[in-house]
Amino acid sequence: MQINIKQLRDRDISVLPFEFVTDISDIEPTVASPVKVSGEIRNQADVIILSMTIEAERNLVCDRCAKEFSRVTSVPFEACVVDHLDNEDDEDDFIICETDLLEIGELAVSMFILGFDSKNLCSEDCKGLCQICGANLNEQTCDCKEESIDPRLQILSQLLDD
Ligand SMILES: [Zn+2]
Ligand SMILES: [Zn+2]
Repeated sequence: MQINIKQLRDRDISVLPFEFVTDISDIEPTVASPVKVSGEIRNQADVIILSMTIEAERNLVCDRCAKEFSRVTSVPFEACVVDHLDNEDDEDDFIICETDLLEIGELAVSMFILGFDSKNLCSEDCKGLCQICGANLNEQTCDCKEESIDPRLQILSQLLDD
């Protein structure tokens, strides 16, 4: 997906909105729907700024209870577009576009994948699985804590302590 930004650079227009979809299910298996990219490129006091939101529904597995769930992941992204860099150290903060054609398809895909959460939880307060019996504590309770110490052994340990 390339966008011609010549009119923006020449100040013929000040804003250029865009929207497109791209399918990345073959490179990112958690992505369950086409990736929707929407945003704009604008000329703000002769600085070209790209801002966009990249989103898609993803099929995930909860890190705590192993339940499968779907959720829309939405990643915002904004950066300045320049035709060259004066200082090589600034590389990470800018997008370099030497011609008037700005490639945003690949950029959107890489920014989307980089923006994924490192932890996936089915809900903020997921109780997870019982360490002893493996029960999903969101769906049921178990008596593992009470039963983990056999009353007879408890008496024995008290005797040994004395
Ligand atoms: Zn969970
Ligand atoms: Zn249990």
